[in-house]
Amino acid sequence: MEKLLSVQGLETEFRSREGVVHAVNGVSLNLDQGETLGIVGESGSGKSVTVMSMLRLIPTPPGKIAAGSACFQGKDLLKMSDEEIRQVRGTHINMVFQDPMTSLNPVLTIGRQVTEPLEKIGVGQREAQEQAVKMLEMVGISNARDHLNSYPHQFSGGMRQRVMIAMALITSPKILVADEPTTALDVTIQAQIIELVRQLRDELGMAMIWITHDLGIIAELADRVAVMYGGLIVEEAAVEELFANPRHPYTIGLLGSLPRLDSAGNRRLTAIDGLPPVLLQKPQACPFAPRCTYVQERCFKENPLLAEVKAGHRTACWVNPLPGKDVL
Ligand code: ADP
Ligand code: MG
Repeated sequence: MEKLLSVQGLETEFRSREGVVHAVNGVSLNLDQGETLGIVGESGSGKSVTVMSMLRLIPTPPGKIAAGSACFQGKDLLKMSDEEIRQVRGTHINMVFQDPMTSLNPVLTIGRQVTEPLEKIGVGQREAQEQAVKMLEMVGISNARDHLNSYPHQFSGGMRQRVMIAMALITSPKILVADEPTTALDVTIQAQIIELVRQLRDELGMAMIWITHDLGIIAELADRVAVMYGGLIVEEAAVEELFANPRHPYTIGLLGSLPRLDSAGNRRLTAIDGLPPVLLQKPQACPFAPRCTYVQERCFKENPLLAEVKAGHRTACWVNPLPGKDVL
């Protein structure tokens, strides 16, 4: 069956004063209808650039998509005209970002902003307003009708994030891409929003790509997880499998002593000694080698490709199986 979304060999670079930064170095990922893919990894690992490239939201220049394809329902987003990609973005693949204050327009009312995506696809004003009220109530804004004329600054951070989610969901997209949208919120509000998103996803049958630092959110939302490092996916597996049986030393480091999926709570990623690489060259060897406790000579010479360790579980590591870790 045709994949809903299939990204192959994506490479993105940025020109900078120091040279070319190789932010994404050959990322491939798939997303099925209704499936949620979590993406985790330290800051700078290329998570945002991956999804932004796929949706053509990279500033060019200094950015450049150097290779790859990103097919949505069989059509390459990277080859579409500007007009076509804008339509996909406003209708079928919608995004929520971390900071609703920069994504909401401060001088437009909430009502205007939530109805805009609908009006763009030809829904009449009155109908759009009815749908906006419904959607705002769905995301937990009570008496939504009374708030249509409010401005973003009159809302709290949590409320603004709900508005962003309402805007992203109002066109019933096939895919919601969320880039750490709850990171700035306090834990209680965050938990409410995650629960809400989960319900809406199931009601709407939507697929999601959810970028986060928070393993608790991954446990709550994701079906499958991709771990990124150095602009590469270094491990990918179903969520239960990844938590129970991490194979890549970087993933093991991130999970720290985290023992089980159901006790993930609000755990953040564990700190690993050393710093992520600055990618002024495409990685020729394993990018994690300098920080890896299992490192061998070969790791400094050749970059391991993602390879299946068992069905549906892929990892990019030369040291396999890891000492002290049996293949299950
Ligand atoms: P993550 O989302 O995983 O924290 P990003 O995808 O934002 O990481 O960034 C990956 C790399 O790309 C970083 O090294 C970052 O410095 C670089 N990068 C991102 N955006 C730009 C830009 N506009 N100009 C130059 N470099 C950038
Ligand atoms: Mg990011």
